[in-house]
Amino acid sequence: MPSPRDLLNAAKAEITEIDPHEVAKNISHYTLLDVREPEEYEQGAVPGAVHIARGNLEFSVEGRLLDKNAPIAVYCAGGVRSAFATKTLQDLGYTDVVSVIGGFNKWKDEGLVWAKPATMSADQRNRYQRHLLLPEVGEKGQIKLFESKVLLLGAGGLGSPAALYLAAAGVGTLGIIDMDVVDASNIQRQVLHNMDRVGMRKVESAKITLMGLNPDLKVNMYDERLGANNILDIIDGYDVIVDGTDNFPTRYLVNDAALLKKIPVVHGSIFRFEGQATVFNPYVGPCYRCMIPEPPPAELAPSCAEAGVLGVLPGIIGSIQAVETIKLLLELGDPLVGRLLSYDSLDQSFRTFKVRRDPSCPACGENAGPIQIAEYDDLCMPHPVQA
Ligand SMILES: [Zn+2]
Repeated sequence: MPSPRDLLNAAKAEITEIDPHEVAKNISHYTLLDVREPEEYEQGAVPGAVHIARGNLEFSVEGRLLDKNAPIAVYCAGGVRSAFATKTLQDLGYTDVVSVIGGFNKWKDEGLVWAKPATMSADQRNRYQRHLLLPEVGEKGQIKLFESKVLLLGAGGLGSPAALYLAAAGVGTLGIIDMDVVDASNIQRQVLHNMDRVGMRKVESAKITLMGLNPDLKVNMYDERLGANNILDIIDGYDVIVDGTDNFPTRYLVNDAALLKKIPVVHGSIFRFEGQATVFNPYVGPCYRCMIPEPPPAELAPSCAEAGVLGVLPGIIGSIQAVETIKLLLELGDPLVGRLLSYDSLDQSFRTFKVRRDPSCPACGENAGPIQIAEYDDLCMPHPVQA
């Protein structure tokens, strides 16, 4: 019967070992795989390393390291477990795997870069288990969500479902700007609030609901009117803006400020039985002014008049905004950049329209001058009023 030493020598005979300095020099070339136990990993690891404990390797690795031909450098504490893990990966069909000599101990002793990884508590692992099961999200994506900051413009029809799902998904910071109080006529569609909260500030009501979903959440409340005087300060530092506003002046203001700060805006709008959603990613895709260069006259602008809306409709469009936000935060899939998704609840149909960047756009076009943060008057007329 072979001794453990014989098994190790047999494994080492079939793999390539590499000096830690060689890996450190070409760190962007390799995906690092840490096969130590969770307690070891949490004490310190190579930044960016994928962590799969040796005992879970066979069943987890194919869901985590999708490209079997990508270069992988495996490390453990001292170079023994990584040698066996490297052999296992080769047996599973990975073609370019090396084992780091001396493991993390040597890495650390020789002064190479390491850090204490951001990790999830047992409670968080349980709460976000359905995300962790998705290789495209996983622990790395979930931690990214914890560290993300999303600003919601309005705690109304669209902001309600978007905020509920973003909080539930584990987004760490939600900013909410809304200067209204909860009115009984809101409850038909604004599901952040309820009848007990009629008369309460909307930002307060939103915070109570969202903290119930996610006690780790940080809520920044802005109980004020969004204007040219404060928008740049408010949006600063947010990763994504979810626009649930219902009027043209604010949308132009948000567009221009977001271009200036290069923050993507997930836009949604609703009218009667129809809704639309798209993503304005500054200088990557079209902006709001590329899509709607001039506001319609006030009498034709549905948002400036009182128009009815089916109560469920914002639930659908706001949820689509939440999906697009998470995709942007995690760089997943194909965002609605340059595409307008249009939903008709009576037909029960979705359609997508192309929206192109306008080379002569006054805000993001090639010859656009410096962006001015100015407000439009309440009549939705295209005459800027300097703040
Ligand atoms: Zn534009």
